[in-house]
Amino acid sequence: MTLFEKIAAREIPAQILSEGDEWIAFRDITPQAPIHFLVVPKRCIPRINETMPSDSQLLGTLLSAAVSTARQEGLAENGYRIVINNGSDGGETVPHLHLHVLGGREMQWPPG
Ligand code: 5GP
Repeated sequence: MTLFEKIAAREIPAQILSEGDEWIAFRDITPQAPIHFLVVPKRCIPRINETMPSDSQLLGTLLSAAVSTARQEGLAENGYRIVINNGSDGGETVPHLHLHVLGGREMQWPPG
């Protein structure tokens, strides 16, 4: 089981914000912004580069979950950023696909 599968199974504690049949959203343990949460599919796909066209419905569901949870967290008015890190150059550290949602401060561009 991956770390995020264990969080979804409540084997490892996390601050869970929202959940659907196929996904769970919880606060990042090392927040990089005043609000920073992850949206994770319950079925482990290691990273977005390993998704297939047949995963497109799940990917849409994850984006919708990010939006609805961002609204719930009060981020709709001022905005937020959604990030997916893929592979070593992308900064991925946990090999279980996840969307970062960051908000509560102004983001910089280009990212580091
Ligand atoms: P990545 O670097 O793979 O894009 O993102 C992994 C994220 O998972 C990091 O932002 C990291 O802080 C977060 N993370 C790692 N371990 C845990 C944990 O045990 N609980 C929670 N809630 N987040 C974690």
